[in-house]
Amino acid sequence: MRSILFVTFYCIPFLLFSQLQISTNEIIGKQLPRGATSNPYKLRKEVYDAFLLMKGAALKDGIEIEIVSGFRSFGRQSAIWDRKFQKYQKQGFNKKESAQKIIEYSTYPGTSRHHWGTDMDIIQKVKNRPTQLLVAKNFENEGAFCELHQWMQKHSERFGFYLVYTKDISRTGFSYEPWHYTYKPTSKKILKRALKSDVYGFLLKEDQNPLDFNYFNTHILGINSLLKE
Ligand SMILES: [Zn+2]
Repeated sequence: MRSILFVTFYCIPFLLFSQLQISTNEIIGKQLPRGATSNPYKLRKEVYDAFLLMKGAALKDGIEIEIVSGFRSFGRQSAIWDRKFQKYQKQGFNKKESAQKIIEYSTYPGTSRHHWGTDMDIIQKVKNRPTQLLVAKNFENEGAFCELHQWMQKHSERFGFYLVYTKDISRTGFSYEPWHYTYKPTSKKILKRALKSDVYGFLLKEDQNPLDFNYFNTHILGINSLLKE
């Protein structure tokens, strides 16, 4: 009885009021997420713990989940952006058009959810691995990862994981990504913090940036509506 009282009076208020620990540099991928060193994908500790629970449950149903991308640094995102930008420029697109092509699937450095250590791209371990992993058709109908997709649709939210770029036709921004999941309990707080801090406003003001301020609404907020509640 005494221990129940202790939990009620001391621990619950602590849990309710405990603050999310995150710096601006963590939001934009210039610093490793907290607890990242304890796992190979550099995810935040609570995210990786929740992932392992989900992975174990899926394994009991015969599905082996594999992470292909967890944390991504600002530098890595810059390299992706620059490579694609140069490719489109060479094909004759102007600055603005090149950026528009890139943001079908990739985001401007500093604005990726992969910077947060809460988001991951996953596939299923299968015998015949397709050469291109992260394409929607692998996750649908008879695709190589269709079992994983069905399992995640049924169970992932119970473990805190939500699809970010859903098939919802009213959603704007990045294309449908049936492989990209986020750990909602943490990422919801980080998004709130990021928008409040105006870190994205700062990034989008950079001279080299060909995107306009609509990018906030169309792309950064163009996510599963359950993640904005
Ligand atoms: Zn992703």
